[in-house]
Amino acid sequence: MTDLIKLRGVQKYYGDYHALRDINLTIRAGEFFSLLGPSGCGKTTLLRVIAGFEGVSDGTVMISDRDMKDVPPNQRPTNMVFQSYAIFPHLSVAENVAFGLRKSGMKKDEKASAVEAALTMVGLAGYGARAAHALSGGQRQRVALARALILKPKVLLLDEPLSALDKKMREHMQVELIRLQRAVGITFILVTHDQEEALVMSDRIAVMFAGEIGQMDDPETLYRRPNSRRVAEFIGKMNFLPAHVTAFNTNIDLSIAGFGDAVVALDQAPEGPRHGAVAVGIRPETLAILFDGEKASRHEAPAVVDEVVYYGDMTYYDVRVKDVPEPLTIAMKNMIGRPVLDVGAQTRIAWDERAIVVF
Ligand code: ATP
Repeated sequence: MTDLIKLRGVQKYYGDYHALRDINLTIRAGEFFSLLGPSGCGKTTLLRVIAGFEGVSDGTVMISDRDMKDVPPNQRPTNMVFQSYAIFPHLSVAENVAFGLRKSGMKKDEKASAVEAALTMVGLAGYGARAAHALSGGQRQRVALARALILKPKVLLLDEPLSALDKKMREHMQVELIRLQRAVGITFILVTHDQEEALVMSDRIAVMFAGEIGQMDDPETLYRRPNSRRVAEFIGKMNFLPAHVTAFNTNIDLSIAGFGDAVVALDQAPEGPRHGAVAVGIRPETLAILFDGEKASRHEAPAVVDEVVYYGDMTYYDVRVKDVPEPLTIAMKNMIGRPVLDVGAQTRIAWDERAIVVF
């Protein structure tokens, strides 16, 4: 994949407020790229800088090797779909989509076929004559997408496009958007504060905190090898246990509260090995409740069930382990013949040092 968008040393100030801090990133042509982070971290600002709605205080924005410094938004190869997908309720679906073409100089019949092609792309073929106000939220979002796609941008910028939809429709549209992106081959840049949405949809994700990029990686690397505790806490759920590094050389020797001794690989400490007090992070699905007679393949510890949350396909347990200050969350898949334990049950849990990240 060729590089399409390059940001180098981008800084953005609003008065004294430092909204973007030394942003360096490269987005490839055809990539589904997400900007993920808590509210106010600068995701929308970064998207608007790429679109040209905001200038930069310092640094450069290049698209297709061209410096965008003096290029206004309407002359950039980008198009934006907003959170509040402002479609016009008094117009028909086709008129809404054709709105994107108003300055294109296209002839009427060319426009009509471009509109129909764009509607087909988003799964709304034949909906052109419908009144826009008579559409569901998901359908309106598709109209907004069709209106953006009809201009054939190289880059589609999506600012929380699914946040107004209910959970089922959002999940459906996530799959639709991935399919659409693969079909049209356009680079998508998505802003979201929903980590699950970013994991499901993206080729790569930049996780932002307070105007900075904390980590930029593919979803699996972000989840399995977060490079800092703040990334680990933001993406998914992670248990943290106090631990002590007793030695490091080709491996790291640890003494973990409640669990005992463990030896882990150097790359399990993304911030580098160090002596003394550390925290170890363990994802809920890498711990397991041991039911009658089951043996741990690596290590086990006695535990007491503190809380049970039943989800149908999964049960989430909070368990207390002696000498571990906070309860540990364990995600267990529900299976035929496997009971759901009650609060207060004495049990054993299995853990595996290969799933540990040291912070
Ligand atoms: P959210 O998910 O809540 O939309 P975000 O990560 O997209 O948040 P931004 O909208 O980029 O955050 O805002 C980043 C910071 O910059 C916020 O603290 C915001 O108040 C500030 N900010 C944004 N636009 C302006 C502006 N025009 N003038 C002053 N401050 C601004």
